[in-house]
Amino acid sequence: MQYISTRGGIETAVALEDAIMAGTAPDGGLYIPGQLPAADLDRIPVNAPIDKVALELLKPFFAGSELTDSLEDICTQAFNFPAPLHTISDSNGKRNEHLSVLELFHGPTAAFKDFGARFLAATMSKIIQQRGDSEATIVVATSGDTGGAVAAAFHKQPGTRVVVLFPEGRVSPRQQHQLTCWGDNIISLAVKGEFDDCQRLAKELFANTKASNKFNLCSANSINVGRLLPQSVYYAKTSLDYQAAHGKSSNYIVPTGNLGNAFACAWAKQRGLPIGELILATNANRSIPDYLEKGEWQPRNSIATLASAMDVGNPSNMERLRNLWGDANELSNRLRAFSVTDEAIQTRIVTEFKDYGIAWCPHTATAFEVYRNLPEDERQQAHWIIAATAHAAKFDEIVEPLIGTPIAIPEELAHLLEWPASFDTIEPSIDEVISRL
Ligand SMILES: *Cc1c(COP(=O)(O)O)cnc(C)c1O
Repeated sequence: MQYISTRGGIETAVALEDAIMAGTAPDGGLYIPGQLPAADLDRIPVNAPIDKVALELLKPFFAGSELTDSLEDICTQAFNFPAPLHTISDSNGKRNEHLSVLELFHGPTAAFKDFGARFLAATMSKIIQQRGDSEATIVVATSGDTGGAVAAAFHKQPGTRVVVLFPEGRVSPRQQHQLTCWGDNIISLAVKGEFDDCQRLAKELFANTKASNKFNLCSANSINVGRLLPQSVYYAKTSLDYQAAHGKSSNYIVPTGNLGNAFACAWAKQRGLPIGELILATNANRSIPDYLEKGEWQPRNSIATLASAMDVGNPSNMERLRNLWGDANELSNRLRAFSVTDEAIQTRIVTEFKDYGIAWCPHTATAFEVYRNLPEDERQQAHWIIAATAHAAKFDEIVEPLIGTPIAIPEELAHLLEWPASFDTIEPSIDEVISRL
């Protein structure tokens, strides 16, 4: 399997290892498989554990790579926590047969990004070991959750260090703690600016050949193909398990920011998994819904919202999605996207808690808002799965005042919160970052 740039043809082809270590293609495009392999569904046993599903599903992407023999090991390391599917009861106590929630928050930092980060860390460290490469510096720009997941996944991994760039004052206190509590091989930098500044800094760093070679820079953002591959696994597993039990495919509603999670779902669907409709739920950053509606791609600066990990005005993975499914016209036949205001997020959190007794994080609440606003017949005629992307306890300062009661902290998170934090604050300039390396 070769990987090519979204902006070039076969002449840009590289091996999987090179695509992962490089992050982005030299022409500025994003790496995608030269040909998306159909999933061999017969090889995936019904109700197989998630690491076994991962192994079978991802094998074709590793075909011919120096990592082929390591894939099983990588899957075991990365998928060491579950992604359970739960049904929800209706307000009258009856089980809602048409709705399940895919809980993606059982990893070390209680958000779905743990899947991608752990898989990437395991893969990169195999590559470095096998190649005898010098220490790699992983640069990660984060609007909140990415950095914590990446730092947790790479912490104390030999041959690696991580530079986390996060927007000062734009992440929740608990999120910030998870970005800054590591020490050892993790460098945490608060950037005076917004997420887009952090992302721009990361891009400039990679474009700077001197720094890039000197520090052996690698990317761990959701643009890295090594993050996307594992994210398709939970869509595959849940859609297959549901189909085995009920003989039907599932529709998904995915809270969306930089479009990494939802794109992985699109991949799974395209590969032949029993996935019906895909709906993207965005916050007030509405570049994607506007694009589908108006047909013109207009990236903008990001707006700060309550669902801060989705505050992205220029979602990077749009380039991959358009490559996969075409431009606005075609794309709008393939999926829908809805934007949810902060006010609606707040009301949704309150209502879900009042009616169903469950507190959702602001990101997951955008997907619930979209689901509850679907026409009744759409909700009744299909099986819907909402991707719950983070545990509400990560966003306690938003959720607790709304529901008026404390949220129990999951054990992993409680453990991290006891570690002391430390970080530097910098101007949004590439020189300042380089001086910290
Ligand atoms: C990152 C994140 C999202 C958005 O995912 P993308 O892959 O960037 O679209 C949604 N919810 C939470 C909790 C996140 O951390």
